Amino acid sequence: MKRQFPVSLPEGYVDFFKNLETWQNKQQIKLKKSYSPAGIDVLKALVNTNKPVIQSVDFPLDVNQYKSLYQELLLLLKDYRPEIAGVMDKILEKLEHLDFGLLPVKLLEADQQYFSELSARIDVPTELLIFTVDHSLRPFLRLWAEPHYTEIAEDEFKSWSFANVCPFCGSKSHFSRLRATDGRRFMFCDHCFTEWETRNIYCVHCGNSNPDTIQYLTVEEDLAYQIYTCEECKGYLKTFDERHKGDKTDLFIANIETVYLDMLAQEKGYNSHDND
Ligand SMILES: [Zn+2]
Ligand SMILES: [Zn+2]
Repeated sequence: MKRQFPVSLPEGYVDFFKNLETWQNKQQIKLKKSYSPAGIDVLKALVNTNKPVIQSVDFPLDVNQYKSLYQELLLLLKDYRPEIAGVMDKILEKLEHLDFGLLPVKLLEADQQYFSELSARIDVPTELLIFTVDHSLRPFLRLWAEPHYTEIAEDEFKSWSFANVCPFCGSKSHFSRLRATDGRRFMFCDHCFTEWETRNIYCVHCGNSNPDTIQYLTVEEDLAYQIYTCEECKGYLKTFDERHKGDKTDLFIANIETVYLDMLAQEKGYNSHDND
């Protein structure tokens, strides 16, 4: 089905992310061949530390593999987005200024100051630098998280109480799905693809569970996509209701394709609380 956008997205926007995700999937499959991570008791780590797994367990990342994937992504972006090719060339010329052991750490710590200074030093826009560091890291992150998907999803929110934060990698999420089989709600992390359960009538941002102040909006043409809003904190959460489609969807792409819902929610004064 070709979805009609109530607002116009930049040309090629969704296709660009589809291509990017396909590339990331391919990289993940390649990396998997030489990957043997130590087992982690993720639920125990969550209960003991009350922090995302990534903050209490060492990330098994091969710096050279990361560096080569990073370069590959820059070349790919040059191809897909000719308008930023100049910036990609600039980064490629200055690769020796980048510390590939430190970049993932700073990214996961969301150290804005580090990236501002680094981007000023190599004279490229900060957001683009962060985008490249982030998206080249995701195949590694997903590979590491993958063996734990089921365990975390089946935990029924017993070991993790920060509903809008990914228990594995610590990224903020504002996308969830209602499972086709039983209508239970799962939050989705578009960084590491982990899902974790949360209550249905519940604001993932502030914990409000009063049905009078939690509402949902839909866009007429597409009832599967909903925005849950909370009057207490003015937060919103995008949700894909599988019961309307009867099967699973690619949540990464669904999140991108529904940017119009973010715009709609923000126009109505709601906030994704991404930067809180
Ligand atoms: Zn995550
Ligand atoms: Zn709220």
